[in-house]
Amino acid sequence: MNRRNFVNKFFTLLASTTVISGFIKKARATPNGYDPTKHYYEMGIQVDKCIGCGTCMDACKTENNVPKEPFFFRTWVERYIIKKDHSVQVQNIKGWAGELTEKTTESDVLRSFFVPKLCNQCDNPPCVQVCPVGATFKTEDGVILVDDTRCIGCRYCIQACPYGARFLHPEKSTAEKCTFCYHRITKDLLPACVEVCPTQARIFGDKKSPASPLNRFKHRSKIHVLKPALNTEPKVYYSNLDGEVR
Ligand code: SF4
Ligand code: SF4
Repeated sequence: MNRRNFVNKFFTLLASTTVISGFIKKARATPNGYDPTKHYYEMGIQVDKCIGCGTCMDACKTENNVPKEPFFFRTWVERYIIKKDHSVQVQNIKGWAGELTEKTTESDVLRSFFVPKLCNQCDNPPCVQVCPVGATFKTEDGVILVDDTRCIGCRYCIQACPYGARFLHPEKSTAEKCTFCYHRITKDLLPACVEVCPTQARIFGDKKSPASPLNRFKHRSKIHVLKPALNTEPKVYYSNLDGEVR
């Protein structure tokens, strides 16, 4: 997109956003017959159950047509290696370089584990605050979505997300991220990553449903969120989270 088209698209969308954004937020996200006011979605991650198989990453790519190159992903799994000298090495299990720079032998390792990550569907989302055209928005059931028809590819949200959860789609030139598989959960299906996880390391649920497995998980586990000091209020909760995870 050249500079003139970009500016035109920006101002056209900015004008329309201020008039009808509230109406559009509801109408553009929800299928017929689904009432978003009756749900509020969250996810739990049991770190001690993740075996780093990457099945969740593969399922997400297939389900959501994520570009196949290894550096594009909506969810990813990091391998943490804590060494005896207390240095920390982190690597995406699917080969993205991460920070694993030197060879590590087994005798150097104090502990190692896997941490699945994704968009935290923040309750106080900086990505929504910075979007100049209202393309990134929060649904009534608590999911952060991107409206492709309004996104101008300015990358503000990508820079604002402190979790690295967004990328620019190489063909569409719009911002991409995890949607909790919104097209599935609004039909009472699980997100693809949760459905395929062989160890049930991922738990999905509805805060407004007392029988939700997510509510049970939150009550029985000591839970943490990533980067709590940033006040983004994540809705992805971790149990058995090592203090070195960032
Ligand atoms: Fe936005 Fe990033 Fe929070 Fe997801 S994790 S809601 S992309 S700030
Ligand atoms: Fe971990 Fe489950 Fe993903 Fe496998 S599918 S990497 S066990 S979260």
